Amino acid sequence: MLIAPPTHNEAQRLALLRSLDILDSDPEPAFDALTRMTAQMLDVPIALVSLVDENRQWFKSRVGIDDSETPRAISFCAHAIHGSDTFVIPDATQDERFADNPVVTGDPHVRAYAGVPLLSADGLALGTLCAVDDKPRKFSESELGLLRDFAEIAQRELLHREAAIQARGVAEENERVVSDNEALYNASFERAAIGIGIVGLDGRWMRINPKLADILGRQADELAQLSFQEITHPDDLDIDLGLVKQLLEGKRNDYTLEKRYLRPDGSVVWTNLTVTLVRENDRPHHFIAVIEDISARKQAEGELHALHQQLEQRVKDRTAELQEANDILVDAIHQRERSESLLALREAELRAVLENAQDAYICFDDKGQIIEWNHQAESTFGWTRSEALGQRIGDSLIPPQYREAHFKDMEQLALTGEARVLGKRLELPALCRDGRTIPCEVTVTALPPTARGRSYAAFLHDISERKEAERKLAVQAITDTLTGLPNRRGFEAQLQAALARTRRRRQPMALLFLDIDRFKSINDTHGHGVGDAVLKEFANRLRGTLRETDIIARLAGDEFVVIIEGLTESGGTQAEQVAQKIITAINRDMPVDQLVLTVGTSIGFALCDGKATPDELLHQADQALYAAKARGRNTWSGLGVHAPEAHT
Ligand code: GH3
Ligand code: MG
Repeated sequence: MLIAPPTHNEAQRLALLRSLDILDSDPEPAFDALTRMTAQMLDVPIALVSLVDENRQWFKSRVGIDDSETPRAISFCAHAIHGSDTFVIPDATQDERFADNPVVTGDPHVRAYAGVPLLSADGLALGTLCAVDDKPRKFSESELGLLRDFAEIAQRELLHREAAIQARGVAEENERVVSDNEALYNASFERAAIGIGIVGLDGRWMRINPKLADILGRQADELAQLSFQEITHPDDLDIDLGLVKQLLEGKRNDYTLEKRYLRPDGSVVWTNLTVTLVRENDRPHHFIAVIEDISARKQAEGELHALHQQLEQRVKDRTAELQEANDILVDAIHQRERSESLLALREAELRAVLENAQDAYICFDDKGQIIEWNHQAESTFGWTRSEALGQRIGDSLIPPQYREAHFKDMEQLALTGEARVLGKRLELPALCRDGRTIPCEVTVTALPPTARGRSYAAFLHDISERKEAERKLAVQAITDTLTGLPNRRGFEAQLQAALARTRRRRQPMALLFLDIDRFKSINDTHGHGVGDAVLKEFANRLRGTLRETDIIARLAGDEFVVIIEGLTESGGTQAEQVAQKIITAINRDMPVDQLVLTVGTSIGFALCDGKATPDELLHQADQALYAAKARGRNTWSGLGVHAPEAHT
């Protein structure tokens, strides 16, 4: 016996079979009618609607046998379901696949078999409609045609059942999906972290979720009695109603609004509201309001706003303070600019003054280093400004012999800021670049100390010319302009000095007093000019006669004096000789202004060891002169000396 193998699509086939829920089901008239008609029309003792399960074949309808099922292993139908066409066995005893099958060898002694597979919508063979004879036979084509027709009907029944089951499955699935969705919807609605409310067209709260109750501070049953209008903050109502109107007019599908609701305790809750209009059959039906509590955000915004305001105020205050400070600064800057320009002007003026000053201006620090050197300094001392700057005044201006003292002064100045030269007008010698030393009038002033330290301003004025003029004046004061000899004043000083020398050397001196004889008559005869020329020539002859060391002076008019020093012990003879020499020199023909005159002079002298006063000595000499005149002029007379007779 050959046991039919499982079909190639066995698993699907079995799954479908089970899903049809037909196995072990109650008999059904439709199938029973088919088996009856098959038995009758094909004239067979057995007709079956057999469904091939995993281990058995179960008869949905049977005619001719009592058992409701037989094992699949001995089933003819298990073979029949392998094909799609009618499976026919004319004589099982002759077919080795079935000859030893118990249903062949024993009850019900199957001999002939014809089975048409019953296919599902997808072509899965679920079982057969079969006709079984206990006698071998050949089924005619018409018989097999009938069998196929009946099988077609049975197959439709099964397809119908399959469709019904599929439809039920779909319906169940739909139902499940709907109920799942509803559960999901309910869960979402109830547990949403955001407030959701279903609002009627009249504004009444039809349904709200717990979160919304929490936000609005009211229970669902309380809200059911209220409209949204009643719990909206009056200031937000108009805009809300306006938007609702637009929804109802179809001008928009939804809107979002930040608005306030009033809680029962009078407090206000800020929310973000999104409203959608739900239509049914194109007619507005209800609203869905989604409400988010944004109080915290609003409060934060409020605080932020307040903070912002505060900050703005602070910024304003600071700005005002800054403006004020800025104004002060600007004023200060302007003032400073004015001061600076004034200072610059003053500086320029000062520079101009210094540059054009007649005085040399030298500025130096407390090390004596030159930091300013004006134009006049350049021309006075010969150093250009660039050469002078950086030099020490001690090296460039101070004559070598004064340098040591100068550097000591500078040291003291650096230590104490004081020095003997400060603030005084002094006459000091200064060294020039060419090595000349010139007298300068110097004023040194300490300048106010700066960050760079102390500095000093020195004005130096070259007083060489003045000194020379003074010297000349002094010389003039003691000089007779006509003859160039010392005058009375010059003579008096020289007489004092000569007396001192005489005392010191212990060598006598002689003072000779000379007076031109009858000089008036020269003047009178030849004029004053000739007189002057005679005086000058007289002086020249004195100079020519006497030694350079001898002192000659014109006391007044035609009076002259001569001092002879370093005489020997007695001295008288020497004085006499000198007097005689002078008389001889004067008596020589004197050519004056195309005239040749003869001039005589009387001389009186006095000797002295230095102990007499100048007046005493002059007086003695004058006395002697008087004696000489008295003796007839053109002669000499000495104190205690016998003079020769007069020449004229
Ligand atoms: P004696 O011999 O007594 O000295 O007679 P004398 O004419 O020289 O008289 P005295 O010495 O008294 O007169 C001096 C005169 O010298 C008087 C004055 O007119 C004149 N005399 C004085 N000073 C100058 C002068 O600078 N130039 C000229 N030309 N004459 C002068
Ligand atoms: Mg005279």
